[in-house]
Amino acid sequence: MNAPFIKTENLCFSYDEDDGRHINVLDNVSVEIERGSYVAVIGHNGSGKSTFARLLNMILEADSGTILVDGRDITSEDFTEDDMFEIRRKIALVQQNPDNQIVATIVEEDVAFGPENLGLPPAEIRKRVDDALATVGMSAYSRHEPHRLSGGQKQRVAIAGVIAMLPECIIFDESTAMLDPVGRRDVLTEIDKLNKQNGITIITITHYMNEAALADKVIVLDNGHVAAEGTPSEIFAERDLLNKCGLDVPQCTAVALGLEAHGYKIDGDITTVDKCADAIAGFLERNGVACVKK
Ligand code: ADP
Repeated sequence: MNAPFIKTENLCFSYDEDDGRHINVLDNVSVEIERGSYVAVIGHNGSGKSTFARLLNMILEADSGTILVDGRDITSEDFTEDDMFEIRRKIALVQQNPDNQIVATIVEEDVAFGPENLGLPPAEIRKRVDDALATVGMSAYSRHEPHRLSGGQKQRVAIAGVIAMLPECIIFDESTAMLDPVGRRDVLTEIDKLNKQNGITIITITHYMNEAALADKVIVLDNGHVAAEGTPSEIFAERDLLNKCGLDVPQCTAVALGLEAHGYKIDGDITTVDKCADAIAGFLERNGVACVKK
């Protein structure tokens, strides 16, 4: 089997409070992220999710433990500044607030910012900008002013800026949290496409359980520890454990569990709205109510 794209071993990060208390934000976190996979990291506020993202992107430095990216330890002493930029090109970070990520006054100039900093030839920059804007469905807005766009559109421009750097992995740190439902749906569709069609490894950090349900694997952080990891079905079958971590199952799973608690047998692992709808339709069919799909 191929080595994982990212592997952390006993990763620790702490800081000292003004009153001298030593706070462990991440405590011996050991996880593996396969190349091309879609991984969600969930946990209540303060569980260490963003710190984990920032360590992978080399914005923060670990106290101890290792982070292997493509088999190379990025926490090693002999890692140079050039190596660090190389890692940031491989593992890009999209943050929560799109306004903090937009740097130019015209959309295409904003997307070109990263490739320009790589010193690429103009024709290559043009191609990357056009391709990135097409990928996120924003080509028609290339000459627009970013500040006039909606939150979802701005976040898609920010994603285009990241894609134009041709990263192998993108970390989305609560990147849908500030968006309205339509913007959130558009960005989630984009993320799924980047993973399934472009083969980009995705790590999403989220407190929306329905977003975590879209991943191949979910890692649950609780007070800096890995409390559980598994497929969404495996994780959402552990409602008590999630509750102990200050989390809950997605609403659609809660609906299925509620129906079961009232004696209605619902088939399968219900982790998404589509699965929930199919299960309820199946139940109705079995009970003589014809459900015709449009
Ligand atoms: P999450 O993303 O799960 O909400 P974070 O990784 O942002 O968690 O942070 C974990 C906790 O550690 C938070 O309460 C944060 O305020 C705190 N923290 C992390 N680093 C520092 C630091 N250098 N100084 C003060 N507080 C910090």
